[in-house]
Amino acid sequence: MPSLGSRTRFTRQLGFRLTAGYLVFFTFLHIVVGLFFRNTLIRVQESRMRELIEDDWATLRGFLRQTDAGLAWTYNADSPQDSFLAERLQRVLLLADQKGNLLQVSPGYRVIGVEPPSEIRRVLQSRTPVWKVSRDPWGTNYMIRMGTLTLPGGRLYFVAQGRNMAVTEATVRQFTWQYFSGLPVIVLVGGLLGWLLAKQVLQPLQQVVRTSESITGSNLSLRIPMRNAGDELDRLIDTFNRMIERLENSFQQMRQFTADVSHELRTPITAVRGQLEVALLTAQGEEQLRDAILTALEETERLSDFVKAMLQLSQAESGQLVLCKAPRDLCMIARDVLDQYRIPAEDAGLRLVADLPSQCIGEVDRIQFERLLSNLLSNAVKYTPSGGEVRVELQSGEHQVKLAVADTGRGIPREHLPHIFDRFYRVPSTDSSDTRGIGLGLSFVAWIVKAHGGSIDVTSTPGRGARFLVTLPLSSAPAPAAPAQT
Ligand code: ADP
Repeated sequence: MPSLGSRTRFTRQLGFRLTAGYLVFFTFLHIVVGLFFRNTLIRVQESRMRELIEDDWATLRGFLRQTDAGLAWTYNADSPQDSFLAERLQRVLLLADQKGNLLQVSPGYRVIGVEPPSEIRRVLQSRTPVWKVSRDPWGTNYMIRMGTLTLPGGRLYFVAQGRNMAVTEATVRQFTWQYFSGLPVIVLVGGLLGWLLAKQVLQPLQQVVRTSESITGSNLSLRIPMRNAGDELDRLIDTFNRMIERLENSFQQMRQFTADVSHELRTPITAVRGQLEVALLTAQGEEQLRDAILTALEETERLSDFVKAMLQLSQAESGQLVLCKAPRDLCMIARDVLDQYRIPAEDAGLRLVADLPSQCIGEVDRIQFERLLSNLLSNAVKYTPSGGEVRVELQSGEHQVKLAVADTGRGIPREHLPHIFDRFYRVPSTDSSDTRGIGLGLSFVAWIVKAHGGSIDVTSTPGRGARFLVTLPLSSAPAPAAPAQT
């Protein structure tokens, strides 16, 4: 039995594992979400920056004019707005003519590095805009748009224009820092909540452990209270309770069985002992002693039959008796068994009637099928008074075979019908001489029928007879070892 310490440790481990798993997942999810938002922010900022540069480009076109002296800036210097725009456009700007000769390079452009003539010529030839990011010596990035500009008059120019990305990058940095610096706090709080949740979820398990520890062989009536939450734990508790119920029933059966066996053994042993003692004290002469020994022998024979039947039934029910099923002619087996009962039936003044087809093939274990019919016939003969009739019928259907053993005997009262297949169950009889039988025959019949995958029904009218109807499948799956009787 696990100690209290190991039990607590187990729960802790489970709680710890649950929390740890949850934490790892939670942290991973948080990081993935953070990276996703960071990338989205970068993409949004970049496209915003491109839009701004495209706007600058459009403005620049309006400010540049082709003059005889070459390229010139034309804007209203008195307008603060124009002056501001022109000044801003020229912060990071490089202009070159169509041969690649530099016309204007702003100081801002110079620090990030002037484009090599080859690159300028490539852009002039392709005439498609090229975007790039350049970094100044202080680590600030600039987004640059390189492209061509055709002014009225047909002259082609190279224009590289850029914007400082410091603010954009600072926004991304700030988001990253704020998001990820909060991560340890979020993970800590999440872990704490997960731990509390796991503890709460596992707490009813402690109850299950405590109750199951207090259940012993003499205390099997204990049940774990249901929580009525309808969750997996409730299902576990229900399963556990049902298992205990089954165990309780088995224990009860075992106790009953032990009591029954003791009782069954005590009666003949007491009788033998009594007879031998009386003979020892009172017998006069060899004849009386002989009688006493014969009676004792009869009792020991009954004892031996009882022990043999007990042994066979317990072997059957514990799965040690393996059926050997094969297709056999049941009519032939039935005729053989019936032949064995002709003389006892005649002695008892009974008519033995057989209603059998010419052939009836069924997949059975021959010995067990014989035993089944023999037990039913022996009961019918036993419990039918002289002048009565015992009838055996066999019918073969498409998928099953029906065997009926009917008699016109004393019958079985309705209230006893559900119990007659129980071990040692005997219908109380008013006839004091009725000591035949040990109450195991029908238990065996029930086991044999079950092991063949069939069913058995009994109908009876007290005083007018009983009819046992066995239904067996014609062919069945491989025989189960031995179904336990419930
Ligand atoms: P037993 O060895 O006492 O016959 P069984 O298990 O074969 O034990 O039968 C259980 C009880 O069922 C019997 O004691 C008897 O009371 C009743 N019973 C069985 N078969 C018949 C029958 N054909 N007619 C009347 N009672 C029967």
